[in-house]
Parts: sequence; structure tokens; C-alpha cells
Amino acid sequence: MSSKAIEGLKPALLWQHFYELSQIPRPSKREEKAVEFVREYARRNNFKFDEDKVGNIVIHVPASKGKEKSPTIVLQGHVDMVCEMNKGTKHDFDKDPIKLINTGEWITADGTTLGADNGIGVAAGMAVALDKSAVHGPLELLCTIDEETGMTGVNELQPKFIKGKTLLNMDSEEDGAFYVGCSGGQDTAGIFNLEYTRTRKNFAAYELMVTGLKGGHSGLDIIQQRANSIKLLGQLLSQLNVNFQIAKISGGSLRNAIPREAEAVILFDPKDLLKVKKVIKNFIASSLLEYKAVDPKLTVTLKKLRIKLARVLKLNLQIRLLML
Ligand SMILES: [Zn+2]
Repeated sequence: MSSKAIEGLKPALLWQHFYELSQIPRPSKREEKAVEFVREYARRNNFKFDEDKVGNIVIHVPASKGKEKSPTIVLQGHVDMVCEMNKGTKHDFDKDPIKLINTGEWITADGTTLGADNGIGVAAGMAVALDKSAVHGPLELLCTIDEETGMTGVNELQPKFIKGKTLLNMDSEEDGAFYVGCSGGQDTAGIFNLEYTRTRKNFAAYELMVTGLKGGHSGLDIIQQRANSIKLLGQLLSQLNVNFQIAKISGGSLRNAIPREAEAVILFDPKDLLKVKKVIKNFIASSLLEYKAVDPKLTVTLKKLRIKLARVLKLNLQIRLLML
């Protein structure tokens, strides 16, 4: 396979390295040949490199002259690729190089996936390190394994493996877009032993609800700064300046959705109703001030319930819950 498809493409260093990498079979979990290619690149250019036990490799590229004191930048890409092919294509992803095609507008592959994800990222790091016109501080070219089928390379990365504190991940979804952060996911389970106590005799039950919020996906929409009904309900309850008890509290529906509604059944002395209403009114005003641009339909309602409740949460549990 000749490198004809990339002939004349600029930047030449980028395309040359992408082409070379595309000639090396590199399915996820079988990246050994690609890692050897990275080693070979380092040896050829007299760069030191380190490897960890899962198969990640980092190449240490010295700074341009005069930039030795600049902070180290990590350029990270993954060496594995998604291996798919059209029906009728004869290709062995464990042995065969990818056949590149230049359509005049795009570089594509002949009946298979191209591996630009993330071959182009790895190649970009290699190109920058060799480009004499690129002025940079110390670089670490971090090539990780197995992004596509489990992220085991990145997950097993040990903190001391790289020194740089700034990392540019070279694997992105959008052309020309530069992301300065990303959403992540973390589940936290808080487990409380439910302890109950008796309802105070003179107390009546009310349903307190926070509704009308937009919600959205907790990853994609988190940047919209939308209100979170659970937090609002917690803040509101913490601001109540009367004695009250909580019989029930709930909010949200999915772990990856911004909560749109939350509600509590609280009990207090009906004599304090005006005080409670005043707190709610002020709370709505201040919350709307904060959220009117993104969540203008924020609503808080208080409704008297015609039920008798025998038990409520114990006071110390109530305090702990509201402190969350
Ligand atoms: Zn990728």
C-alpha cells in the first residue's frame, strides 16, 4: 500500500504519521503492534519513554530552546480503533493495513473504518513534537490503550505516570471545537437509618412542592446552570424559621436527569402559617432572581393536607438530611 492517498496533504508531518499508524493493525485490546510503533517513533527521534503495566506509553519530548521552564503539557490520544467493515469487504483487522482513499475532499478508508478516532490524535502529538516551527515547553505524548471497549487504559493510569498538570485530549467529537472541560458521572449512595418519632399534637400536615423546572440531562445540560429541585427544597426547608417536622421527602426521578420536581410533607403549628408563607414568598423571589433566565417557571406551592400522620422523622435525622 503506497502513501499516495496522503501525498501533498498538509501539514505533511501530521499526515505522514497518520498514514504510518493506519498501516498498523490495532483493534482494541490488541494494540501491541501500535505500541511498538510508538516505541519505535520514540527511539528513532531519541525521545525517552515510559510504559505502565496495562500498556499505556508516554514519550517525553524536550522543550524548545528557551522554553525549558514552561509547564509540561500532556498530549493524549488512544492507539486503538473501532474495527468495522462493510459487507463484502475482505479485511483482517489483526493483520491488514487500512487502505486510505483520498476523495479529493476527505480521507476515507476502503470498506472499513478509518481509525481517525483516534489515529489522528496520536499523529498530531507526534507531528507537533517533530515540527521545528512549533515552539513549546516540555511535552508528554501520552498514548493510551483500549479507549473503545472499556477505557481500561485511562482507568488504570497511575497519577505519577505523567508529570504534566495540563492535558489536552486529542479525541473530540466536533471539528474545530476546543473543549475546556467535560461532564463526568459519579454515583453517591447516602444511606440513612429511618428513625421516626411521634407527630406533635398541635401540628398539621402540609405538602410543600418545588415544580416547574426545566430539568434536562445531567451531563449535556449541566452547563445551562438550571435549578435543581432537590437542592431548592432543601434550601427552603433550611430557611423555615418555625418548628416543623418532616413526614416524607422525595425528589428527582432518574440518576442522570437534573431533578425537576421535589416534594416534602411537613408538619407545623397552623398558627405559624403566615410565617411559613412569608419565608416561601421571599424564597421564590430570591430564587427567581437567580434563575429567571434559565428556569423562569420555578414554582413553590404549599397545600394543607387533610390527613392525620402518626409519625415523622426524628429531629436529628431531619437536621442531617437538610445539611446534605
Ligand atoms: Zn476515540
